[in-house]
Amino acid sequence: VAAITCNQMYIDGAWTEGMGRASFPTFDPATGRQLAEIPVATSEDVTGAISAASHAFTSWSESTAYERSELLYTAHHLMLERTELLARLIAQEMGKPLRAARNEVRYAADFLLWYAEEIKRPYGELLPSPRRGQRFITLSQPVGVIGAITPWNYPVSMITRKIAPAVAAGCTVVLKPAEQTPLCAAAVFAVLHDAGLPPGVVNLVTTDRPASIAQHFLTTSSVRKITFTGSTQVGKLLLRGAADQVKRVSLELGGNAPFIVFEDANPEHAAKGAVLSKFLNAGQACICANRIYVHRSLLAPFVEAVVRRVKGLLVGNGLHDGVDVGPLVDSTAVDKMEAILEDALGRGARVIAGGSRLKGAAYDDGCFFEPTVLLDVSPEMRISREEIFGPLAPIIAFDSDDEVLALANDTAYGLAAYVYSHDLSRVFRAVERLEFAMVGVNDINPTAAAAPFGGVKESGLGREGGRQGLEEYLVTKVVGIVL
Ligand code: NAD
Repeated sequence: VAAITCNQMYIDGAWTEGMGRASFPTFDPATGRQLAEIPVATSEDVTGAISAASHAFTSWSESTAYERSELLYTAHHLMLERTELLARLIAQEMGKPLRAARNEVRYAADFLLWYAEEIKRPYGELLPSPRRGQRFITLSQPVGVIGAITPWNYPVSMITRKIAPAVAAGCTVVLKPAEQTPLCAAAVFAVLHDAGLPPGVVNLVTTDRPASIAQHFLTTSSVRKITFTGSTQVGKLLLRGAADQVKRVSLELGGNAPFIVFEDANPEHAAKGAVLSKFLNAGQACICANRIYVHRSLLAPFVEAVVRRVKGLLVGNGLHDGVDVGPLVDSTAVDKMEAILEDALGRGARVIAGGSRLKGAAYDDGCFFEPTVLLDVSPEMRISREEIFGPLAPIIAFDSDDEVLALANDTAYGLAAYVYSHDLSRVFRAVERLEFAMVGVNDINPTAAAAPFGGVKESGLGREGGRQGLEEYLVTKVVGIVL
């Protein structure tokens, strides 16, 4: 259990401070307190991790699916046993309230369990040939060494969502976590180590200069795939960089989710969903409602219910009991809320709840922003166009289904969308016309280890979770045989 709060890297089965002397600090966003000093990986550390993963690939890719499955089951049990420790680390490092942090750990563990089961399923095929005496068979084989980069907002589950299918498939991994949440990453790797994954199968390298590690991933030929979760901006850099060696790429990028309340919806029920979706993780989830569209006939009761619920949210240190909304991850995020708000107010929006940084003894050292609700929001405002990634809820009235579906699709993003209605025809029309890869119908959480998660348009490439999440780590090989 000592490794749980380990601030080291994990390379070739051993904990290490690496070869350099440089380090970077991490902070608790609720208190401003420094948590740890984390090593900055040197070039040698990263090449060492990649070559450990390359060596391990030979035997790991030849192990049986049953052997790999067994280790993932063990990791699943261990992770659940450590739920409390992991949840506290999440709360400390990025501010998520404990209750939500425990949910994240269970979600993270689900990927280990689900891929322990699913890896027994990818069968090959025997295909008929147009030529007499010829047969084709197909095999599914692991892609190879994977370079993985993960964000801070779900610092445990975004790691298992990549590592579980990768190692299940027989791939080996070098992972760089977000610089805000390296302790969470080390705790996940401690689980994998204690579960008995052989040396080199998973490797953790840390840095506060992410582009340097990404460069190693992009230019080392043994790294056959890049998997990334983070902003669209960085995703585009990686996609361009991966072109030189034609690496496979999976990208889970930003979102700008429309949350549509049609005229037949129950405004109270929809308001409850909108507030839960918007203020999930203090607004810092890629699937958070970003633009809340309400049929004009429901505007008054819906707004009343949203404001009532928002005023009931307790903001505070995620480690404290009863807190609903924690701090934002850092002060840059708070500055961004102020800038987006100023832009909206300057163009005619109105704040009807919240609207500023929180002040007072409990808040002054942390990165807290009030849950905020705005009306009179228009499509050209930053708040409509950008991924807000914080606790601002813009409410926009609409008059017709066609109008709202056009507004909803008027974005470069295509991750999650939400629809509130009980009219079957309307629901199907909306689901089919929305250019988003995940749609919640009267459902604010259309996600699970079993369900493919991902985006279209500038929200990404590839899927995580489900059968599709395993295919991302497999190559189909065809063999022609003449009898
Ligand atoms: P970010 O892109 O800045 O950081 C994400 C990761 O990329 C971190 O590990 C960071 O160190 C690394 N990184 C930063 N610059 C890099 C570079 N030049 N080269 C290589 N790596 C680099 O994103 P963020 O703002 O910290 O995270 C939030 C973003 O992640 C949001 O846009 C959110 O929507 C997205 N996200 C998407 C999903 C999804 O599944 N689609 C899930 C969670 C978060």
